[in-house]
Order: sequence, then structure tokens, then C-alpha cells
Amino acid sequence: MAWPQDLIRLQDIDQELEDIEERLSDIDLRLQDDSEVVQARAMLKRSAEAMEQAQRTQKDIEFKLQQIETKLERSGQRLYGGKVRDPRELADLQAATKSLRERKAIVEDTLLEAMIAREEAEAAHAVAQETLETTQTEWEAMQQALKEERDRLQAHRRDLQEEREALRAGIPKSALDSYEYLWPRTGGMPVAHLQGDMCGLCGVKVLRATRIKVEKEEEAYCDGCRRLLVA
Ligand SMILES: [Zn+2]
Repeated sequence: MAWPQDLIRLQDIDQELEDIEERLSDIDLRLQDDSEVVQARAMLKRSAEAMEQAQRTQKDIEFKLQQIETKLERSGQRLYGGKVRDPRELADLQAATKSLRERKAIVEDTLLEAMIAREEAEAAHAVAQETLETTQTEWEAMQQALKEERDRLQAHRRDLQEEREALRAGIPKSALDSYEYLWPRTGGMPVAHLQGDMCGLCGVKVLRATRIKVEKEEEAYCDGCRRLLVA
């Protein structure tokens, strides 16, 4: 291949290498990012704590209720056992029993609420568990896919770099120097094709002398944008 064509191929390769570098650093960032899993794990921990708290609350209330029932049983035995005969003592006992019954009704309502809360907390915990498992599985699959893509890109980059070195060896040094000088100044497009007598990138009609240089495969520059011109 004549060197002007090599220069065009070099530009293609360098552009592709830039894209590869960009994608590789994006992949690196994504490989380090496990925030979704961390978040799902934190959610599960919070839901487990909430569930345990709700279970404890229900147990506490059940215990309270049991204590009231025991007291009620005892006062019932005394009230109807026939051993207490003093009217005043009986009246006190009746009042205490009545108050215990009222207390029992209140605690029973609280227990019902606690049971509902406990069931809800258990359901939320199950959902959090499932979410973590799904997130973890998806994350692992994504990591695997990213690693495979990274390996493919790295292999491709090695091939391109080899081809690049071979191409550069056949391009005149002054053209390479211009190419490198123009690269950052042209947004990574230092070489343009001459189309007829016009620059394929900026559209300027070039001088006849410039066109002849291009045809003779000599180093030539666009009279408009100063890019390297090739046929
Ligand atoms: Zn131009």
C-alpha cells in the first residue's frame, strides 16, 4: 500500500483505539461499581431488623396478655370460690376484675395490630430477600459480560497496536509529525480525502499545485483546513 493510504488506515486505527480506551475505562468503572448489590443488602438488613422488632413486640404483648389472663383466673377463683365473704373485700375484688377485663380488651386490640404489623414486616423482608437475590444474580451476569467484553477489547487493541506500528514504519517521518501535530487540533481527524479538487472534510477547492502533489503521493495539505490530504 502507498503511504497516503496507510495514513488513512492509521487514522481509522487511532480513532478506534480512542473509542476502545474510552469503553475500557467505562468498563473498569462499572466493574468496580457494586452499589446496587450493597443497596439491596442494606435494604435486607433493615427489613430483617424491622421484622425482628415486630416479632419481639408481638411476643411482649402476648406475654402481657397472658399475665392479665392469669390474674383474671386467680381473681375469678377468689370471687366465686366462696372464701371471700367480707362485702367490702368482694366489692374491691369485683372492681379489680372489671378493670382487668377492660385492660385485657385493650391489650387484645394492641395484639391484633402487632400481628398485622409483624405479618407486613415478614412480607417486606421476603421481598427484600428476593430483590437481593435477583440483584446479585443480575450483577454477577453483568460483571461476567463486562469482563468478557474487556478481554475482547484488549485483544483487539493489541492487534490494532501491532498494525499501527507496522503502518507507521512505512509513512514518511515528516508526514507522521504533521499527523501527530494535527491530531489534537482537528478533533482526531488530521487526514482528509481529496474529492475531485475539493477537500473531503472542509469542502474547500484546493490549488492545482496541491492537487498535483496529492496525485504524486507527495505530502500535501488542504489549502482550507490545513489537514493532510490524500487521494
Ligand atoms: Zn480541508
